[in-house]
Amino acid sequence: LSAALNRLAGVPVQRLLARPELPAAVALANRGLPARTVEGFLRPLLAALLCDPGLTTSSRCADLALRAFASGRLCVPEGGAETLPELLARSLPPGTVHTGVRVTSIATNLVTTADHGELRCRAVLVATDARAAAGLLPGLRVPGFHPVTVVHHTADEAPSTGAFLLLDADRGGPVAHTAVVSRVDPSRSPAGRPLISSTVLGAPPQDVDTAVRAHLSRLYGMSTTRWETLAVHHTAEAVPAMRPPHDLRRPVRLLAGLYVCGDHRDTSTVQGALHSGHRAASAILTDLGAGPMHAAEPLRTTATATATAASDEEEEEAAAA
Ligand SMILES: Cc1cc2nc3c(=O)[nH]c(=O)nc-3n(C[C@H](O)[C@H](O)[C@H](O)COP(=O)(O)OP(=O)(O)OC[C@H]3O[C@@H](n4cnc5c(N)ncnc54)[C@H](O)[C@@H]3O)c2cc1C
Repeated sequence: LSAALNRLAGVPVQRLLARPELPAAVALANRGLPARTVEGFLRPLLAALLCDPGLTTSSRCADLALRAFASGRLCVPEGGAETLPELLARSLPPGTVHTGVRVTSIATNLVTTADHGELRCRAVLVATDARAAAGLLPGLRVPGFHPVTVVHHTADEAPSTGAFLLLDADRGGPVAHTAVVSRVDPSRSPAGRPLISSTVLGAPPQDVDTAVRAHLSRLYGMSTTRWETLAVHHTAEAVPAMRPPHDLRRPVRLLAGLYVCGDHRDTSTVQGALHSGHRAASAILTDLGAGPMHAAEPLRTTATATATAASDEEEEEAAAA
């Protein structure tokens, strides 16, 4: 399996995108892989990566997700999902970004807000979720969505699975995957206690917390009756569905002055949202005659700071040698 994943990591994206496009579940069954590999690992992994328990997603998007996993494995943003937009905003001049401002209508030269008046502008880029974008830009397609429910628990004692993500290949309950997230990112630990985050894909059962606890008890092999529920977050329209045929590069330039980006223009991931934002920014700069986009310095995070420090040390060691 490891060798197959390494091979996949080396396949050029264009070659993956030239493969026939089928529902991922059908493509997976046709690949001639042992049933144990498919059912015991690939199916639950892809369901987790795509937030799609039925694997109705385009096989091309599934291949891209698996290739990304094979080349980079899994990660979470240190400090929580909001860290990434906060880092991006921090690289801009102070006062550039205003939050808590709801936009009610747009034109190429005007943005109208609910409580903050009107803003004149030279171009508008709508970077909302798909449904809000269609509200602001009538005629824009609204895709189907996959619902996601995340349940956070804490406990006196952490399960002994370390920093691993546990996938449920047996479909023995509502939990698709679960992890002791505080072992991966200690900054998320609630008051020094373990944080166990579990994800339910698709429509959740009625009493989701009770069903999740019972399932977690079997998955982790320990009692969960004394675990404390910290939060249950249900997002009905969490991830835009990518059924075949899926257009991986939906237009981001609607007309000169009006642009749209987000996960619904690319792949339904943070990566897809960023990529579509990059495409839209390039189109805006071209239309404004501002020249090509410059390559930004990588954002400095704790992880990159550590990696840079490590590589500086390696360089120094190499120079000394
Ligand atoms: C529970 C959950 C788990 C997920 N897990 C993963 C994962 O593991 N990996 C992964 O890659 N992706 C994951 N995703 C998907 C990922 O979060 C999205 O694909 C990504 O956030 C899309 O980014 P975006 O910028 O397109 O839109 P969003 O992140 O939805 O941002 C849109 C913004 O627009 C704002 N907005 C909306 N309407 C208006 C308005 N009228 N005026 C002003 N502002 C407005 C919203 O407040 C929001 O801040 C997950 C999603 C959920 C819900």
